[in-house]
Amino acid sequence: ELFYRQIPKVELHAHLNGSVGFTTMNKLIARKPHLNIESSRTAIHNGQRRTLDECFQVFKVIHQLVDSEEDILMVAKSVIEEFAADGVKYLELRSTPREETKTGLSKRRYIETVLEAIHQCKQDEVDIDVRFLVAVDRRNGPEVAMETVKLAEDFMLSSDGVVVGLDLSGDPTVGHGKDFLPALQRAKNCGLKLALHMSEVPSQKAESELLLDLPPDRIGHGTFLHPEAGGTDILVDKVCKLNIPLELCLTSNVKGQTVPSYEKHHFQYWYECKHPSVLCTDDKGVFCTNLSREYSLAASTFGLTREAVWSLSQQAIQCSFAPEAVKQKLEQRWAELRPHIL
Ligand code: 5GP
Repeated sequence: ELFYRQIPKVELHAHLNGSVGFTTMNKLIARKPHLNIESSRTAIHNGQRRTLDECFQVFKVIHQLVDSEEDILMVAKSVIEEFAADGVKYLELRSTPREETKTGLSKRRYIETVLEAIHQCKQDEVDIDVRFLVAVDRRNGPEVAMETVKLAEDFMLSSDGVVVGLDLSGDPTVGHGKDFLPALQRAKNCGLKLALHMSEVPSQKAESELLLDLPPDRIGHGTFLHPEAGGTDILVDKVCKLNIPLELCLTSNVKGQTVPSYEKHHFQYWYECKHPSVLCTDDKGVFCTNLSREYSLAASTFGLTREAVWSLSQQAIQCSFAPEAVKQKLEQRWAELRPHIL
């Protein structure tokens, strides 16, 4: 299992508050004893399953624990350090800016604080290149989405290339994608890359068709796009023709029960099509995983050779939202770090 930790990796789908590790979470719980939160409520352990709805309840608990600048700085720094320790060399972190009246936190400060954490890690010479995607939570509706896009635009221009894109996430059973089209279109027009959660639940076919016409630059999950999962050939054809990479999160989907087992994960379908697919963690804290574990699980479940695993990690570079020069540098690093045993 050392192999999976040692190879350099790219993480493209990681929600900040879902990625908080056990130690940091316990610090937060200890800081806020009045909330009376047990650590069993902030993570879904191995062998446990939850409904998607229950997963979203977990985020509500974590949001209570992370509600000040100080919390966000600590959480973001520790998450970045943990990804680096797991061999991640390039990370795209995403998070939904929140306003908290109790602590005087504004959405702008929220983003600034995450960027400060990224900056501090760089100063500390943590060996990882971190970029940020501003997240839109669909539960908050189209007006908030538009505000968030405007904020993301500002930061795209002022963050020295750290803010590279926009995410659409949140409970997929709430709201309809069509209402977010103006905000997403605006984001795209101003040069933000779009990473959209799509077809996480079976009822999103029409929405996915609409969103694919934008088109997005990457797709999160895409669990129910293909016909074998109740999707359609039209959806698959669009994704393939446009060559839109998929962000696939095995443990997240198994624990959230949108796929029945590791063996039946849609990784298999897209991998056999040779479609660009990137293994990701989604919420490494909540789902008690890390990226090397996800690579290891994919290898053991689908019988991937080490060479195949290496190619997966390398191909992820081209799926990132990094500028071309950064992609080239990453390719070079991968060449240097390639283990001799391959
Ligand atoms: P945050 O944005 O607060 O840093 O991270 C937690 C948030 O990410 C959740 O409240 C939710 O909006 C989003 N999120 C995390 N995991 C998932 C997922 O598996 N599916 C969807 N649709 N959203 C998620």
